[in-house]
Amino acid sequence: MDRLKSPARLMIVSDLDHTMVDHHDSENLSLLRFNALWESNYRHDSLLVFSTGRSPTLYKQLRKEKPMLTPDITITSVGTEITYGNSLVPDDGWVEILNQKWNRNLVVEESSKFPELTLQSETEQRPHKISFYVEKAKAQAVTKALKECFEKHGLDVKIIYSGGMDLDILPQGAGKGQALAYLLKKLKSEGKLPKNTLVCGDSGNDAELFSIPEVYGVMVSNAQEELLQWHAENAKNNPKIIHATERCASGIIQAIGHFSLGPNTSPRDVTDFLDCKLENVNPGHEVVKFYLFFERWRRAEVENSEPYLASLKAACDPSASFVHPFGVEQSLCDTINAMRSCYGDKQGKQLRVWVDRVLPVQISSNTWLVKFNKWELCGEDRRCCMTTAILSSKDATSISDGFTWMHVHQTWFDESEPQDQSTWLF
Ligand SMILES: [Mg+2]
Repeated sequence: MDRLKSPARLMIVSDLDHTMVDHHDSENLSLLRFNALWESNYRHDSLLVFSTGRSPTLYKQLRKEKPMLTPDITITSVGTEITYGNSLVPDDGWVEILNQKWNRNLVVEESSKFPELTLQSETEQRPHKISFYVEKAKAQAVTKALKECFEKHGLDVKIIYSGGMDLDILPQGAGKGQALAYLLKKLKSEGKLPKNTLVCGDSGNDAELFSIPEVYGVMVSNAQEELLQWHAENAKNNPKIIHATERCASGIIQAIGHFSLGPNTSPRDVTDFLDCKLENVNPGHEVVKFYLFFERWRRAEVENSEPYLASLKAACDPSASFVHPFGVEQSLCDTINAMRSCYGDKQGKQLRVWVDRVLPVQISSNTWLVKFNKWELCGEDRRCCMTTAILSSKDATSISDGFTWMHVHQTWFDESEPQDQSTWLF
């Protein structure tokens, strides 16, 4: 969060399952569209927050399964855990607040007396969350009986039913909404209240997000009845909340456009980059565009034409070098020449390339050092390279003419080094 020195232009606070992540989209196209939009236009001056009912364990599992970006802030376990950055550093202030008036043992003891409740797996039981499964038909009656029972024991807790099956018991001051309110208050106290905040959700535990004053909200088209019903009863006349006509992450992009919160054209929706007139020139856009072209080239989704390669080479300084992740250094122009031989080599093989955490630092009047993670997914094979690139604006006085690549250096991230390095180009 310290990355930004001034208020974020936009803060997106999104649920994951069936909101950011579409489990019915095996190609993850809407998520990849969002990723490209975020990294090209928002990453450098905005904040991405994931708010999920998942525990940290199941959250990490989802990140391995889906092409998700790294958020700045991760709120897990239905708003009971707030963490920062890639290493999930916990917010101790939030822990302290939740510890007040919370007697976990007594909640566990009393709820164990209800046979309708089936305890969820051990990983989902968290310091400030106790989770069960309940059949939909019994949910209302059980919730009511639980409330009465807890009141009798002087326990001030919150019961949330979500997804037609999950029943979570949390401290009264917890939940996705309270966690967001805490975060906004904290940002405000640091003079960094985001200029705009957009919350995104699909199910019952997201309803609280939409109750926070001043935020925009999108219920994705596939939102569950429980959330739509909550909206009809509580927020029907709030013009800052929409029910999108598009599913999941595409619904989020739709909301960015609907509320005019910033650019809403994903580079993935631009078919011809040679024709592309940039509405927002920044190093992030250049990086996204470059790797998207690479994906399309190998999938044979662009024409196999010399003008394309020529325009790529025109964007490289003649002396620019490329350091391969397995140590060999060669000229960047030669690397682009070598692309001729890999045209269409991933046709029909579901290759996807995306970049994460594209963070440019301006190092001189016309030069940027850009660090990012570059991912490739092809079938079951998923690899990541930590990449450093140096880009300079073609015209020293303005960046409107685009960028020149001066240097690219890649190293393997974690244990993603492939057995066969011969097919590795960028
Ligand atoms: Mg959800």
